Amino acid sequence: MIVVMRPSATRQEIDGVRRSIEDHGLEAFLSVGEERTVIGVVGDVERISHLGTLPGVDQVIRVSSPYKLASIQEPGERTRVRIGSVEIGHGSELVIMAGPCAVESREQLLETARCVSREGARILRGGAWKPRTSPYSFQGLGIPALKLLAEARDATGLAIISEVVDPHDVEVFDEHVDILQVGARNMQNFTLLKAVGQSRRAVLLKRGLSSTIEEWLLAAEYVLSAGNPNVILCERGIRTFETATRNTLDLSAVPVLRQKTHLPIVVDPSHGTGARALVGAMALAGAAVGADGLLIEVHPDPANARSDGDQSLSFDEFGALMDELRRLQFVRATPEGRAQASEERPVVTSGLEDLRERIDDTDARLADLVQERAALALEVQRRRDPHVHGHDVKRERDLLERAANGTPGPMTPVELTMVFDAVLRASRSVQRRHAQSVVLAEDGAAGSDR
Ligand code: PEP
Ligand code: MN
Repeated sequence: MIVVMRPSATRQEIDGVRRSIEDHGLEAFLSVGEERTVIGVVGDVERISHLGTLPGVDQVIRVSSPYKLASIQEPGERTRVRIGSVEIGHGSELVIMAGPCAVESREQLLETARCVSREGARILRGGAWKPRTSPYSFQGLGIPALKLLAEARDATGLAIISEVVDPHDVEVFDEHVDILQVGARNMQNFTLLKAVGQSRRAVLLKRGLSSTIEEWLLAAEYVLSAGNPNVILCERGIRTFETATRNTLDLSAVPVLRQKTHLPIVVDPSHGTGARALVGAMALAGAAVGADGLLIEVHPDPANARSDGDQSLSFDEFGALMDELRRLQFVRATPEGRAQASEERPVVTSGLEDLRERIDDTDARLADLVQERAALALEVQRRRDPHVHGHDVKRERDLLERAANGTPGPMTPVELTMVFDAVLRASRSVQRRHAQSVVLAEDGAAGSDR
């Protein structure tokens, strides 16, 4: 923290600020300029938030972020949250969460679960308690809905997400669902945030209707600091003056969040727009700006849905959106497609000897491929100024993320990332060696000129 004193601040006022800092067990570093004095403070500055009110103080500037656990330590740092066999964040495949706004009946839920699973969603959504603006609107089926969700999970293998509205319900949610959703209206319900912080399940924290990104990250900090590291953020639109859409889906929040936090980010184009016709476009846009997942409302009969029918996609519309996500390669393949792709790589052949031969053969091809990659990297280096610092960090990060998305096979994204990390390091080493030899040769030539 930096405390900037007014130009007119007296010696006593400066001493007063320093004393106040030290009285709170922190260190003050004075820098006396020609015009004003500036005081640097190191340590837990939460305790001295009053400094701005002391006499002689012009402004107090916070240097470190107030959300310690949610904030990024190094550029590009990302966390992956695991929900059963589904991973979200840090280069995971785009995770599609889909299902009805509210669980209405067994038939409605199971039918929707089968549809979204077939189309490639990994997580089934469905509200059991609905925080509705009007007390006369459908409020959700409660516990029976949680049981239906668990049944749908058993039937399809999808993981389950549902909104918890009461801190006392966290335990029963823990039993039935895989992800606890904290809704927009409860983003600053601090009792609820602390309660889901005690849960062993992942938490999807929606952005409050009128919350800044900083308030949102501080809400995430409540969950993280209560001991639950598995927090996923969800942009679902904010209140603005615009009335053409239900909310204004703040897609710039996604890249902003990626600069500020390591937590996975989901975009909800359903609540973000409130209109079925707009959901597809904003889903694609969400994927394009770097969301790790999408949360989409789907209903077998949107016109007769008991909540949010206007923004719910029909099965056909959801299928068309998934096709488009696949065409643009935001989503790789349907589950059947995945299975098919692994079948295209038959591993089992006759004997052990045979298998070993095939491994040797694969290794030889791998060696050729990494040499080919290094030769290309070397050619790039030859064409650029040897004095300019080499590699393109963004491209490398993108490559690592793509690698982590993986191809079907036994390697986890983490293992694939390890491999690509090593390949990149070796390539850079080849480039560096070349650049050094050019610089040395130039120095030698300059020396002999003299
Ligand atoms: C929901 O996802 O069902 C929901 C109520 O969303 P939000 O909290 O974003 O309004
Ligand atoms: Mn809804």
